[in-house]
Amino acid sequence: MISTKYLIIGNSAGGIGAAEAIREVDKDGSILIISDEPYPAYSRPMIADYLGRGCSLEKMLYRPEDFYQKLNVQTRLGEKAVRLDTKKHTVELDDGEQVAWEKLLLATGGTPIVPQIEGIERQGVFSFTTLDDAKAVSEFLEGKTGRAVVIGGGLIGVSATEALVERGVKVTIVEMKERILNVMLDEETSDMEAAALKQAGVEIITGHTVAKINGAADTGGVSGVTLDDESPINCNLVVVAIGVRPRTELVAETGIEVNRGIIVSRQMATSEPDVYACGDATEAYDFVYNENRLTPIWPNAYLGGRVAGLNMAGVPTDYPGGTAMNSLKYFGVEIASAGMVFPDDKCEVISRRYGDIYRKVILKDGLVTGMVFAGDTEKAGIVFSLMRDKVPTDGFKEALVAEDFSLAALPEEIWRPRLTAMPQGEVTVVTAPEQPEEMPAGD
Ligand SMILES: Cc1cc2nc3c(=O)[nH]c(=O)nc-3n(C[C@H](O)[C@H](O)[C@H](O)COP(=O)(O)OP(=O)(O)OC[C@H]3O[C@@H](n4cnc5c(N)ncnc54)[C@H](O)[C@@H]3O)c2cc1C
Repeated sequence: MISTKYLIIGNSAGGIGAAEAIREVDKDGSILIISDEPYPAYSRPMIADYLGRGCSLEKMLYRPEDFYQKLNVQTRLGEKAVRLDTKKHTVELDDGEQVAWEKLLLATGGTPIVPQIEGIERQGVFSFTTLDDAKAVSEFLEGKTGRAVVIGGGLIGVSATEALVERGVKVTIVEMKERILNVMLDEETSDMEAAALKQAGVEIITGHTVAKINGAADTGGVSGVTLDDESPINCNLVVVAIGVRPRTELVAETGIEVNRGIIVSRQMATSEPDVYACGDATEAYDFVYNENRLTPIWPNAYLGGRVAGLNMAGVPTDYPGGTAMNSLKYFGVEIASAGMVFPDDKCEVISRRYGDIYRKVILKDGLVTGMVFAGDTEKAGIVFSLMRDKVPTDGFKEALVAEDFSLAALPEEIWRPRLTAMPQGEVTVVTAPEQPEEMPAGD
C-alpha cells in the first residue's frame, strides 16, 4: 500500500494547477499524481501541431521536464486508477496496488464520445483527444496518401482537419447540425470559418451524419463511409470528433453527486468529504449563467485545479467561476467568442461588420453576457473583462463594437484600473504554436 497526503488523478491542466497551488502553501505534504497517459503534462490542444507540423513532445510540454522533481511531486504515469473507496480513503490501480490518501482530487478530464455505428472498430478509425491519438493518426498516414472523413465539425473536428490538411490529406467534415463550430460561434463567424475551410479544399457536409463505416472484410481497414441519406464518401481514414463527455467512471459507485459532470461547490469540493474535482470532469460555477455548467476549456481546468489545491491544503478559497471562451485561429481566421453566444429574448445584441472585422456583444440588463469578435481579436480581452467583472455598459455599449474599439473608448474609471490589470490576451487560449494561456488566478 502506498500512502500520500494528496492524491491527484489526472496529470493535465487541472492536476498541475492543483499540485502547484498545494506546494505554494504546503511545502512538505506528499503529493502523488496518477495518470493513465504515459507522458509528462503536455498541452492537449497542441496534439494538432504534433500531427500537422511534427511538433515535438518537448515543445508541447506544459511545464519544464524537471517540474515534478523541483516541486517534489511523485508520479505514477501510464497507470490507471480503477476503483475509488471514499470511505476507506483508497484508490486501487490497474496493477492491483492500493493508494491511501488524505485528500483526493479528481482531475480526470473528458473522454471522447464514440458512436455505436457499424464499422467503428475498423483500423483507420481514430479519436482525437490525446497525444497517443495524434501519434496513431500520424503513423497511419506514413507513406500513404490519405483521404479522410472527420465526423463532427466542432473544435476537435476542425482542429484535426487543419492538421490533416497540413499533412496533405483531403478532408470531408460531416456535421450533423446546420453549421460547423455551432456551439461556440454564431452564424456569421461560423460562415467565415466554413469559407476559410472550403478555400483550403475541405469539403463540408452539414445536416447529415455517418451511418456506417465501410471496408473490405479481409483487411479490416476503411474504404469509405455511408451517410444517413445513403450517399457514399470514399476515404481510408475516419476521425471521430462528435464530442467529449466528462470522465466520471471512477465515481460511479461512490455516491459522489454527478449530473452531466461531477458536481462541485465553489471550493471545488464534491459531495463527499475530502474529495475534490476540477476541469472537464466537472460541472463548476459559470459566472455568466450564474449556475454550475460544463465549461470544458483549459484555463477553467487550471484555475479550478488551483482552487481545489488550495482548499485541499487548508486554505479556504472560492472559484471565481469560469465560462465558455475560445480563441481560434484555424485556417488563418481569428475568432474569439465567450459567454452566452446565443442570446435569449431578454438580451440586446449589438453587432457590426467592417470588411473582415466583425464585432458582436450580447447584453442583458446593461451587462455583457456574451461576445464574438472576428478578424481582429486583440481587444476581445477587454470586453471579456467587462463581462467577468459585471461592469454596467450604459453610456458606452456602442463603443464596444466600434471598428477602432480600445480601452480609451471606456469611461476613465473603467479603463484606468484595467490598464495595468488587463492580462494580455486574456481570452487567448491556444491553438498553436503557443502554450495555453492560464487565467489569472484569484481576481
Ligand atoms: C484537440 C483538442 C483541442 C483543444 N483545444 C483547446 C483550446 O484551443 N483551448 C482550450 O481552452 N481548450 C482546448 N481543448 C480542451 C482542453 O484541452 C481541456 O479543457 C483540458 O485539457 C482539460 O483539462 P483537465 O485537466 O480537466 O483534463 P484532461 O486534459 O482531459 O486530462 C485528464 C487526464 O486524466 C487522465 N485520467 C482520467 N481518468 C483516469 C484514471 N482513472 N486513472 C488515471 N488517469 C486518468 C486522462 O488520461 C488524462 O490524461 C482542446 C481539447 C482537445 C482534445
